[in-house]
Amino acid sequence: MSIEGLEFEISLFAEVILPLSLPKNYTYGIPKELEEHVATGKRVEIQFGKRKIYAGLIKRVHHDAPEDYRIKPILSVLDAEPIVSESQLKFWEWMAQYYLCAEGDIMNAALPAGFKLESETTVVLQPSFQQDFTSLNDREYLVAEALTVQRELSIGEISKILHRKSVYPIIESLLKKNVVSVKEKLIERYKPRIGTFIRLNPEFSSDGKLRELFDQLEKKAKKQLDVLMSYLHFTHQVSHPRGEYEKVHREVEKSDLLEKSKAGNAALNSLIKKNILIAEKREVGRLANTEDKFLEFELTGHQAEALKKIKEEFESKNVVLLHGITSSGKTNLYIRLIEEAIEKEMQVLYLLPEIALTTQIIERLRNKFGKKVGVYHSRFSRQERVEIWNKLLHGEYRIILGARSALFLPFENPGLIIVDEEHDSSYKQNDPAPRYHGRDSAIWLASQHHCKALLGSATPSLESFMNAGKGKFGFAELKERFGEASLPEIVITDIKAAQRRKQMHSHFSGLLLDEIKSALSRKEQVIIFQNRRGYAPYLECDLCHRVAMCPNCDVHLTYHKFQNELKCHYCGHRKNNFTQCPACGSSKLSITGFGTEKIEDELKIFFPDAVIARLDYDAIKKKGGYQKIIHEFEKEKIQILVGTQMVTKGLDFGNVSLVGIMNADQLMSHLDFRSAERGFQLMSQVSGRAGRKSNRGKVILQTSNPASQLLQFVLAHDYGGFYSEEIIHRKNFFYPPFSRLIQLTFKHKDAKKVWDAAKAIAGVFQKSLGKNLLGPAEPAVNRVRNQYLVQLIFKMNPSSKIVAELKNKIQNELYKLNENQLRAVDVTVDVDPY
Ligand code: ADP
Ligand code: ZN
Ligand code: ZN
Repeated sequence: MSIEGLEFEISLFAEVILPLSLPKNYTYGIPKELEEHVATGKRVEIQFGKRKIYAGLIKRVHHDAPEDYRIKPILSVLDAEPIVSESQLKFWEWMAQYYLCAEGDIMNAALPAGFKLESETTVVLQPSFQQDFTSLNDREYLVAEALTVQRELSIGEISKILHRKSVYPIIESLLKKNVVSVKEKLIERYKPRIGTFIRLNPEFSSDGKLRELFDQLEKKAKKQLDVLMSYLHFTHQVSHPRGEYEKVHREVEKSDLLEKSKAGNAALNSLIKKNILIAEKREVGRLANTEDKFLEFELTGHQAEALKKIKEEFESKNVVLLHGITSSGKTNLYIRLIEEAIEKEMQVLYLLPEIALTTQIIERLRNKFGKKVGVYHSRFSRQERVEIWNKLLHGEYRIILGARSALFLPFENPGLIIVDEEHDSSYKQNDPAPRYHGRDSAIWLASQHHCKALLGSATPSLESFMNAGKGKFGFAELKERFGEASLPEIVITDIKAAQRRKQMHSHFSGLLLDEIKSALSRKEQVIIFQNRRGYAPYLECDLCHRVAMCPNCDVHLTYHKFQNELKCHYCGHRKNNFTQCPACGSSKLSITGFGTEKIEDELKIFFPDAVIARLDYDAIKKKGGYQKIIHEFEKEKIQILVGTQMVTKGLDFGNVSLVGIMNADQLMSHLDFRSAERGFQLMSQVSGRAGRKSNRGKVILQTSNPASQLLQFVLAHDYGGFYSEEIIHRKNFFYPPFSRLIQLTFKHKDAKKVWDAAKAIAGVFQKSLGKNLLGPAEPAVNRVRNQYLVQLIFKMNPSSKIVAELKNKIQNELYKLNENQLRAVDVTVDVDPY
């Protein structure tokens, strides 16, 4: 075996996963001196192509010398211990095969950026590094010194400075010694909200001690007494779950305390100085070092029954679907099951569709399980993600609450995986590869570890409900809301009829405005839901009806009032707002369509005295935006909350009595085969935000199609009815869950090339698949970022053998395409597209 640049024989080889989207893994030779250091799951430094150096991951070490290409040696081994386990690698392998992507794609999704290095990686000096060079060896010193002069260096530049190819071990060592860090691309980060919490020093908690204190303060420090009284007022308000009031001195957020007691910061600080009150600054949701017993609860009869059923089902089934209506207490069942898994010394993974939106659940779990709970998602920084990874590995975390990327964490012995809101389409990753579904991957991961998976939802996906019906999944139900609460009354208002009767006020029906008014007068809160997708406002010329379009994509530009700008939601293209129509010069331009921002503005006109806020992706991009809005809404500082999808997700606000759905028609449009399912889910979920405590809530649903059958199901809270109806359509049209879909999207800036490539692939399958091959066709948006798009959809029988064969064949054809003159056409493969 000849090895580039090496004279001696090599007998050991490694299959290495590269952090790239490659059709296969590559084999590298292991030089004799590295033999004892290599192992599966360790990272190695390798050269790929002419110049590029990467950190790859060893998947397998073996003796089978490859014959077909000149083999390169591994340059160095980066880890002393494997960072990825064999079982994780199995999971990656399954995912790559199932979703038709590269294991490198999965490695990129799975490893925190801190584990990834490549030639373009840039390092910077750690701010905390005190320029103490004594612990560094010569090469490390050279790099550190260069960095003091030149703020950042790429790995390529470091390689030049050191005159050597292999520099990753030096960088690894500098990272470990906290001298340098990897410079991160600017990513949108999840910022925890920090608060200061005040509690009474337990020494003063007895009635006698308190009285003494009052007497002292009464005489000398009235203001301090006022602060103390306010504090006690808060803590006494806490009721015990079973109704009796209990005098427990709970903690209070400083800002709330200062608002209540007008005595001021100085008085509060004096009490803290005297050690009567104790202040602690920390992330909201993280627990104080005291035991908080407030979240003890007992299950209701129905809940206990459902729990029993889940456990019985787990005896014979690995997956159980819990169908529980909104506010029925699903979370409390999860908590019971988590407790049991923890007692058995097993780990728990609790998945949520979008972690940034789940402050409330984080708080409930942390209250219950304290420091055993880790929260994980891709918006954390590199450092944070590596830290969580390690804490799980070392047993400090037993429960991980995370978005789908948490599936890649190094679980050793998971006992339970919970997939909450299992129907939610955010579980599916659309871009980039791996385009995996979090729920389906969770089920696979659970079976790999012989652990149980619990799927929970008020509106299960048709797939899961059918699986439960067929006995493939176990099934449990919760049909009652907790406590006195009952499901809200849903009222339909016909906007066309209202228009005729002149009862529409811009986008609001008279009924909706009246209901908002009376909710506000009762000091109750209101949620207004406007799905903005496809309904964003755009600019249209009144004369020639030209609509401002994105020059790169086939879509309207969306008007953003706040910045007075037109923006493309696909490519980010921006343009200043026009004052004249670029086509005809007319200055009569109007904004058409309406989004959340418009609704918010109008509400401000109708209800000038109400505090109104907006919850959507634009609003939460502001620092701490989401948590701040939720917090203020919880505290009832906001009366009307206008929002998109985001307001539908698992939020629990006790005082919301009214939900308005601005436009149900848009939720029922038939864009794809899932439209009805999504519409039903969204409307049911958003309705579920109303009347969660005692008083019956109300939902006003605006539509121009009041007779729609789908609406009747929503109205009656009839999931079963909806399911029976919808499943017939799916069957008749051979859509999931009766079939499986694979979607290919071809992209190129030359329309002809895209069509040629799509036709070439279609030609191969047309004969055998017939009407089960859809396309080639242009998707609704057929040009994005100046690239033309054409799609092919394969429908197939869900039998795993048929699916596997077809996948194989598709992949082979794509490789072939890659070898002819059409290879410039970019093809993405989406298995089980959503
Ligand atoms: P779901 O997840 O099904 O929407 P939750 O678990 O959020 O429902 O429960 C709704 C509300 O009812 C929460 O405020 C929760 O604390 C309360 N709740 C539910 N079950 C109980 C119980 N057994 N004891 C006390 N409170 C409960
Ligand atoms: Zn665009
Ligand atoms: Zn015009």
